[in-house]
Amino acid sequence: MSHDRSTCLFCKIADGEIPSTRVYEDDEFVAFRDIRPAAETHVLVIPRQHIATLADCAESDAPLLGRMLVLVGRIAKDLGVSYTGGDTGYRTVVNTGPGGGQEVYHLHAHLLAGPRPWQRMG
Ligand code: AMP
Ligand code: ZN
Repeated sequence: MSHDRSTCLFCKIADGEIPSTRVYEDDEFVAFRDIRPAAETHVLVIPRQHIATLADCAESDAPLLGRMLVLVGRIAKDLGVSYTGGDTGYRTVVNTGPGGGQEVYHLHAHLLAGPRPWQRMG
């Protein structure tokens, strides 16, 4: 576990120093497959900017957080797991701090979808 950007796993993934299976990237965000998927589709969406937790976010981060959430929806569509009626849909989770089960201290949203059962997270 790291709270420091110089040793942060997800900063290294965003920079390409550690390999990942990317499903999306732009100037602001990177999305990649979780290495221990809890569901058939399990993607992590991260800002390139190092923000340790949701609890570190301020009002000034609202535009970034908004774009991140909209991006989760776009990636869900791109991966064919969006909500289109019936039994379809996906889960979006942001674990925050040890009490929330956060393991990697770089802000990320989990996108989970697929047939049940899913593995337990955290
Ligand atoms: P959290 O518990 O919310 O901090 O989630 C961290 C997630 O990162 C877990 O679901 C891990 O399986 C995932 N993870 C850890 N290392 C890697 C990695 N190198 N590549 C992809 N996902 C990872
Ligand atoms: Zn980081």
